[in-house]
Amino acid sequence: MLTIHCAACRKKLWKYEKFGHGHVVRCHKDRIGKQYHVEVVDHKLYCPCGKVIAIDKGSHYRMIANTFTYTGTKKNRK
Ligand SMILES: [Zn+2]
Repeated sequence: MLTIHCAACRKKLWKYEKFGHGHVVRCHKDRIGKQYHVEVVDHKLYCPCGKVIAIDKGSHYRMIANTFTYTGTKKNRK
């Protein structure tokens, strides 16, 4: 599981099950675990500090580069 953080204020945003070694470009909603501090307004995901982190695209969130960081490990698909 990865934990996605806001790059600006370091708050935890949500947990995400990531497969493979690639960058986190989008987050599929069915692989999102616990959500912490995030507010969805007008299909945009806001951190409480006011930064837009991602865009709600229906089945996934499209992440905005450089607005977030993550910690944790990615799972390797065998
Ligand atoms: Zn923030």
